[in-house]
Amino acid sequence: MKKTLRIAHLYGNLMNTYGDNGNLLMFQHLAKDAGYQTQTDLVSIGNDFDPKIYDFVLFGGGQDYEQKLVAQDLQSKKQSLTRYIEDYGVILGVCGGFQLLGEYYINAAGHRLEGIAALDHYTLNQVNSRFIGDIELYNDRFDQKYFGYENHNGRTFLGENTQPLGMVNQGQGNNGEDKTEGVMYKNTFGTYLHGPVLVRNRHFGQQLVDLAIDRSNKRQASNS
Ligand code: GLN
Repeated sequence: MKKTLRIAHLYGNLMNTYGDNGNLLMFQHLAKDAGYQTQTDLVSIGNDFDPKIYDFVLFGGGQDYEQKLVAQDLQSKKQSLTRYIEDYGVILGVCGGFQLLGEYYINAAGHRLEGIAALDHYTLNQVNSRFIGDIELYNDRFDQKYFGYENHNGRTFLGENTQPLGMVNQGQGNNGEDKTEGVMYKNTFGTYLHGPVLVRNRHFGQQLVDLAIDRSNKRQASNS
């Protein structure tokens, strides 16, 4: 019987701007190429997140309206998601999802939305302006370039315990000031790149699938 990778699409019915759902299709496709079948669950408002059963989590981007609803519910999953992240679970947060993995997000209207603070970044707003356009960055952990499209009001500042996903060659990135883009911590990745990022950057998708397979094998070995 084929081995299975379990995927959680976190708030996939609410957080899915600019084709972020395509990241799931790419992950599923690359997993299949690697000889795995996948099972994908929507984990949304009112559902529990079980950190012990998943191999990959996608948390996409959203408009401020959806993001507010999600931020309220997310507090009920704060502990379980933090446990998953600390236990080297593989997670990709895009834009709004990336923002809510951090401490807080000040939205365009100036309201503060709490994140889960699993990572120590925070996000401020900008008045009557957005970062929009093509973006290119370089990731030194995997020695890879990534391309995408950014469209965000938020300006994110990383804390001391995390690395950026990469340094910006073209575009604004996290905040338009320090050339950082996204975040990396253990097997957690956050980014502002839409497009969707794993479709435009197959090599990044492959890294995430490899990490998920590796962790799944280790977990099964320790359970047996
Ligand atoms: N609402 C957030 C912002 O504007 C996230 C946008 C998004 O996910 N594309 O910063």
